[in-house]
Amino acid sequence: MKKLFLPALLAVILVSCSQLPTDQNSERPSYSYTFSLPALHPDSLSISLVASQAGRFVLPFHFFDNPVDSFSSEIVRDLQVFDSDGAPADTLLMLEKIGPIYNQVIGFSSNVKFPVTIRWKLNPEAFSDTAMNLLPPVALSTSRLSITGASCFIIPFIEGSIAQMWRKPLDLEIDFRTGIQVYGIPEKSFRCANIYELLFLQIFSGDPVIAQGTGGGTDFTFLNLREESFEPGMMQAVSSNFSLILDEIAAVYGSFPENYTVAFQVIRGGLEATYGFSVLRPSLDTNFQFHEVLAHEALHNFIGIRCGEYDDPWWKEATTNYLGAVLATRLNLYNKESLKGRLTARFAYTDSSRFNLALSDQWLRENMFPQNVHPLVYNKGAQVVMLLDLRVRQASGNKYSINDVTAYLTINFTNSAFNRQDFLAAFRSFGNINVDDIFSDYIDIAGALIPDSLLALAFDSLDSLGAFGD
Ligand SMILES: [Zn+2]
Repeated sequence: MKKLFLPALLAVILVSCSQLPTDQNSERPSYSYTFSLPALHPDSLSISLVASQAGRFVLPFHFFDNPVDSFSSEIVRDLQVFDSDGAPADTLLMLEKIGPIYNQVIGFSSNVKFPVTIRWKLNPEAFSDTAMNLLPPVALSTSRLSITGASCFIIPFIEGSIAQMWRKPLDLEIDFRTGIQVYGIPEKSFRCANIYELLFLQIFSGDPVIAQGTGGGTDFTFLNLREESFEPGMMQAVSSNFSLILDEIAAVYGSFPENYTVAFQVIRGGLEATYGFSVLRPSLDTNFQFHEVLAHEALHNFIGIRCGEYDDPWWKEATTNYLGAVLATRLNLYNKESLKGRLTARFAYTDSSRFNLALSDQWLRENMFPQNVHPLVYNKGAQVVMLLDLRVRQASGNKYSINDVTAYLTINFTNSAFNRQDFLAAFRSFGNINVDDIFSDYIDIAGALIPDSLLALAFDSLDSLGAFGD
């Protein structure tokens, strides 16, 4: 069993006592963050949270539904908590299992008067033991800032499933107080619709801008966070290709945020973010999946970030994996023969007991990355999405595709998440398309094989319908 993270030591901290009665009210709670970074320096970052109502709070998250590096020690240091009078508040740190691992949760004694203010700094030592090719959760030096929201924000703890906790609409306001240029945020002060958007922020500073462009209603910026340089000519080509990708996606899904940041990092593949993403080194080689990863991560702006699901943990990565590869192929930025090889090859691990899981198995939500079974979702999942694509195109006379059904979902459930019944209803809204058999045969049954002949037939049929371009 692979273990990515070690639970932190249970610590109980009792700060001095406040004797004031609890001030409860029934208004919707609000959470106001201040991210203070006066200059680039390992010790310069401090964060605070003012929470209007009583509740518990999770220290920077050790787990979210994509892999990041493990932490070697406590992330938070210099934690201070004050009540509404500015007096130190009674707090209790406890461990709570959220997702696959234990997280530290701050609770309050009943006499603490809200709103409370929580202030903290990050411990740079916690991030020094980073493995190669996974995005470092925090890099902060005199020349660089690269940070994920999951690694730095204390968040409200909401009982229920991890999806319910992340997708619950909340008033999360963030104020950036900084004297330096920061990328990955829409403006110095903005709101997040839910915790997911906060955890998936990627914030950058200090690294050179190597290209800029427009597309899909956004002004995008490419940052180079790698210790190597790239030819301006290649960056110009990548930039215009990315404009095309954004335009294609926006034509179906709607506009991207006004500002969008893409950071070239030492990373395996890419990692989506709320206002951009991180991606591997650029390349113009169409046998290489670079442009596919650009399309994949840009699609996540809608599929995963703005919209999630409650019942189908395979949906986010399987759909994005299929659509990203297909879009890059259609734009002649990825080799169609390679696409065919991937979409028609029987899922390699079907026979192994480790992968004997249904795509809709809820266990996958928390375990697909820690337990290394994500190829089931990415590979077999993408093939299932191909079958769905063919069904939609055939039932609608090639008027609609799986892109249209997916866009329908992401528009109707923006800033929120959908259930299985909403998913099936989305297909019906495009002409009563019935996909029940695909769900029952290949999504809800563990180990179910998609026959080789069906995969090949589906690919060729879609190709003849123009799904993969010329
Ligand atoms: Zn993805």
